[in-house]
Amino acid sequence: MVDASYKFRFYPTPEQENLLLRTIGCVRLIYNKALAVRTQAWYEHLGRVSYKQTSAMLTSWKKQEDLDFLTEVSSVPLQQGLRHLQTAFTNFFSGRAKYPNFKKKRNGGSPEFTKSAFKWKDGQVYLAKCAEPLPIRWSRQLPPGSVPTTITVRLSQSGRWSVSLRVNDTRDLRLKPRLKQVGIDLGITSLLTTSDGKSFANPKNLNKLHKKLRLAQKSLSRKTKGSNNYKKARLKVARIQAKIKDSRLDYTHKLTYVANPTAPLQLIRENQTIVVEDLAVKNMVKNHKLARAISDCNWGELVRQLDYKAEWYGRELIKIGRYFPSSKRCSSCGHIVEKLPLNIREWDCPECGSYHDRDIIASINILAAGLPVSAPVAHGGDPQDRAGKSLGATVRPVGVCVAFRRKACAKHIGNKSRQAGAMKQKAPNSDARESRPVS
Ligand SMILES: [Zn+2]
Repeated sequence: MVDASYKFRFYPTPEQENLLLRTIGCVRLIYNKALAVRTQAWYEHLGRVSYKQTSAMLTSWKKQEDLDFLTEVSSVPLQQGLRHLQTAFTNFFSGRAKYPNFKKKRNGGSPEFTKSAFKWKDGQVYLAKCAEPLPIRWSRQLPPGSVPTTITVRLSQSGRWSVSLRVNDTRDLRLKPRLKQVGIDLGITSLLTTSDGKSFANPKNLNKLHKKLRLAQKSLSRKTKGSNNYKKARLKVARIQAKIKDSRLDYTHKLTYVANPTAPLQLIRENQTIVVEDLAVKNMVKNHKLARAISDCNWGELVRQLDYKAEWYGRELIKIGRYFPSSKRCSSCGHIVEKLPLNIREWDCPECGSYHDRDIIASINILAAGLPVSAPVAHGGDPQDRAGKSLGATVRPVGVCVAFRRKACAKHIGNKSRQAGAMKQKAPNSDARESRPVS
């Protein structure tokens, strides 16, 4: 059973658009007012204002004469807005996030409707105070028998309306277990290299959009701030940015898993265990020369998708520490070269002479470092196999499929060496730890 959100575009009628715009405005106003109160309390006497107190304030604000328009919209999104503010403060106090910002009109908004604020009838969504159902473009089907529990309407900067329906999916999506394991190296020259030698470039169509974006941004910079032409130009920029985001996301989904099996690479479908490096993308984009290239790679989203899809489809995702010297280590003898500048794509090991492609060797090493925590060794495999520990990587399993573990145990542990031998024949490079002498 998984909680999943399904996002759809919709095109509101003029009345709906009017009501939704007013709702977004009210949610923003309440959020900003509550944030102002909390900020003031903190600066004046280091006081903290709780969610309950802001909720009581909302009741009193609604009674004020100059704020009586607050009662014209559904009260649930206003309440939810205060809850989101509470979450923002919890995240701030625990050090996970920065201090909450005021919401701005130009960023659109996303009012959230819980069960009491909408009706689900004959597969249609009726929001509170709306007579007609939302004209949703059902680009795919909701899981059969599922009923939305929460609905979020979103108006983006580019002026698009979308709605995401949170449903409880009771289906068992787990795929048939497989034996294949793969290590992934994320890079810029090739976006993704797998330990079985496949590599995938950045999607080229983004370059065209980047040119368009640059022109639009230049044109925006020439407009007078606040003028109508400024607003039009800003919308144009936002639309191109949305398109770039769409293509990135589309490509990432096709690499990880989509229902259509003709996609270029389907990591989740093809592999039982996937090992990735745990990258700090936020820190990496601080390098201005590489920021765009890194953003285009969508690494964070790729790992996020692998994470939740692994859980849905009964696969295993393992993340290894980010400072692991993956491309500098020889997979045959374990020798680690001291320096390996980014422009060197391939190298020969000075110790044993084997030839290595930088990206492929990285993915092989990543796989070797991640494997000790995966299925077989979890049952006490021999210490020689705990290669990852001797490689010095910190390893963290994510979304381990218990059923597969048990199966792996019953079926394969007994003849582990034979299994390893078979894998070796199929892909000589894929199982690095077998060919490495014990030091
Ligand atoms: Zn070597």
